[in-house]
Amino acid sequence: MNNIQHHPENDPQYKGLTVNQGINQPPLVNPYLSGRKKRRNYSLSEYVEQILKGNITVLSQAVTLLESQKNEHQSVAREVIEKCLPYSGNSVRIGITGVPGAGKSTSIDAFGVHLIHQRNRKLAVLAIDPSSERSKGSILGDKTRMEELSRESDAFIRPSPTAGSLGGVARKTRETIILCEAAGFDTIFVETVGVGQSETAVHSMVDFFLLIQLAGTGDELQGIKRGIMEMADGIIVNKADGSNIEKANLAAAQYRNALHLFPLPDSGWSPKVLTYSGYYKTGITEIWDMVDEYMAFTKQSAYFECRRNSQSKYWMYESINEQLKNHFYQSPSIIDELSVKESQVLRSELSSFTAAKQLLDRYFLRF
Ligand code: GDP
Repeated sequence: MNNIQHHPENDPQYKGLTVNQGINQPPLVNPYLSGRKKRRNYSLSEYVEQILKGNITVLSQAVTLLESQKNEHQSVAREVIEKCLPYSGNSVRIGITGVPGAGKSTSIDAFGVHLIHQRNRKLAVLAIDPSSERSKGSILGDKTRMEELSRESDAFIRPSPTAGSLGGVARKTRETIILCEAAGFDTIFVETVGVGQSETAVHSMVDFFLLIQLAGTGDELQGIKRGIMEMADGIIVNKADGSNIEKANLAAAQYRNALHLFPLPDSGWSPKVLTYSGYYKTGITEIWDMVDEYMAFTKQSAYFECRRNSQSKYWMYESINEQLKNHFYQSPSIIDELSVKESQVLRSELSSFTAAKQLLDRYFLRF
């Protein structure tokens, strides 16, 4: 016992193990952040004025508004779009597609830097990726995939809208094009994964459709949907570098041959096939010379105007279809009745067509 009392740690003068006075718990919210500007709600005229001045922050907010599910946001967005419409249209709209791994992001990064520095362009990169609704996050148009471009002040990169059907996602992207053009972007990329229906949506909003392909897989022409090749105004074979150059040239020759089998597109332009390396940045000048040549060709033949007009018409009908469909499926009386009819159809008590007719009759009777 005595021993313990004489232990040096029990001596009040002992300094070996002192407990410092604790520090206060820091606040949960960083006080230095409170001085930061909160996101402002702009008025309609402020939105339009700032977008026309090329203010990217306000442009981003307007795009967020049009992607919002809230009706009040959408109605402001619609008015902003209407006001920006007269200032839009003055750009080259390019659809870019390719299977995952084809090198879309590497290429867009390289193309973007080339366009900004060699051709004095302002570039907006948008994306259509309906699958992002399921994965709850967009892969396409992700800034981290385009490292160099994301540091450029003349580039605006926006991932795909994440909510909604393909039609809804595509409509929002098309509206974003209008806002970007009003903000002074003269080159618009719309990126999509070359695996599904989204190409058709992209094709119906761009002037030039670029298909990125790979060589060296041994079965170049397999796995590419004929429809996608038919839509392409240019096919570019990526990764033509190192020991892959020969294979890329061979693949390009095969694509050229395959294209001869297709009828000449309405534009009158014979799609070109080029090889390049997005990673080593070779062959890129030739690709943009091709796009410029196409633009001059279609503007001279008036096909350019014609294609844009028919796209506007297409989107009017698409919009009607989409909104009618949404309205139907969101009507409370239909929501209740849908599952009832569905079970009746599954039990073979009612045919699919009669069930559909009864639901539609019920819907139309209310209006
Ligand atoms: P994405 O899925 O179509 O966007 O393809 P990425 O751009 O992510 O590219 C997929 C892979 O291919 C990455 O590992 C790239 O580094 C590589 N890659 C892309 N372009 C080239 C190229 O021109 N040459 C070579 N050798 N590799 C490339």
